[in-house]
Amino acid sequence: MKVLVINAGSSSLKYQLYNMTDESVLASGRVERIGMDSSIVTHEPAGKPETRDVSEILDHVTAVKRVIDMLVHSAHGVLKSMDEIDAVGHRIVHGGEAFKSSVIVTPEVKLEIKRLFDLAPLHNPAHMMGINAVEANMPGVPQVVVFDTAFHQSMPETSYLYPIPKVLYRRHKIRRYGFHGTSHSYVSDKAARFLNKPLQSLKMVTCHIGNGASCAAIMDGKSFDTSMGMTPLEGLMMGTRSGDIDPAIVPFVMNKEELTLNEVNSMLNKHSGMQAISGISSDMREVEDAMAAGDSNAKLAFDMYIYRLKKYIGAYAAAMNGIDVLIFTAGVGENSSELRKAVCDGITFLGIELDEALNAERKKTARDISTPQSRVKVLVVPTNEELLIARDTFKLVNV
Ligand code: AMP
Repeated sequence: MKVLVINAGSSSLKYQLYNMTDESVLASGRVERIGMDSSIVTHEPAGKPETRDVSEILDHVTAVKRVIDMLVHSAHGVLKSMDEIDAVGHRIVHGGEAFKSSVIVTPEVKLEIKRLFDLAPLHNPAHMMGINAVEANMPGVPQVVVFDTAFHQSMPETSYLYPIPKVLYRRHKIRRYGFHGTSHSYVSDKAARFLNKPLQSLKMVTCHIGNGASCAAIMDGKSFDTSMGMTPLEGLMMGTRSGDIDPAIVPFVMNKEELTLNEVNSMLNKHSGMQAISGISSDMREVEDAMAAGDSNAKLAFDMYIYRLKKYIGAYAAAMNGIDVLIFTAGVGENSSELRKAVCDGITFLGIELDEALNAERKKTARDISTPQSRVKVLVVPTNEELLIARDTFKLVNV
């Protein structure tokens, strides 16, 4: 069985084609600058050279058509015909309270995703364009939607409610949802398998540290708390996002700087975090390089980033009354040995002991970077959200 995984954004569409017999990737790629006159299609077929093509792709229907054309292309393709694609899985950012797990797309499911446009105005409408584009190009092929929020639907009220008037929750569903759920779920499951222990028996803190960053407290195999909230702005300091701040700053800045709500929103989402403090970049590599060259703003940004991350790990260890496993994943978490060392060296009281040589190794597989004596196992687990989407799609379509 072959499953096509799609992550549709407003002007981009990423894809991966899986052979579910051995979970191998047959091809992957992306369409960028959809809606502009010079759209770029990058296609990477397994075992063949990458291709890059610039042309006009004005909408998502055309983008999906181009993806299919590439997959069945006589030279660069990996399929004889489109009919070999048995199902399509989509990443959906917001599933609200309606979706506690992945589901097959039906007219009712589409309606419910539409109702959630308000909660994820930048993402869900783009995902819907992806679903409709697949429907238009591949009529009759089953589609599955996998939500970033679904894994965190297990959070108790104490974790997900904000201490504000409850009527706002009842009327507008203002509550904490959490994101990166597919990643937190994938790495926690992978870690339990790696340690050869039942997932339900472990208290874990998973740190998904990429451009966006979030932590999750995982207990009994379920998400108990997570650092992102109603939107992906809450929680850790990130590349360009502030994470937690005093909410009173918003009206104060609007007043003092004569900014509109949209401008403050943009400031907190796009011009804050590591970029704002370092004054250099939102990219951890550039910040680490500048810090090594003696830049004091880069060092401050790095130190704040680590400090805030340590506070969350400590808070979640307290929330669960213990921690057995600490996991690092995503772009920064998987690649920055400096970040992992700075975090772990500051929370040794939890029973964390890092093996510096193992931490410095560069590997693309799940690995233990703690010493044999460390009471808490520290793991680096490369995330694979696309594979989890393909697995859920395969499971739902195959019943
Ligand atoms: P992601 O959002 O998971 O794709 O992560 C992207 C981020 O990972 C980039 O913005 C970089 O800051 C970070 N990153 C990637 N490689 C490295 C590396 N070798 N060292 C430090 N950070 C890295």
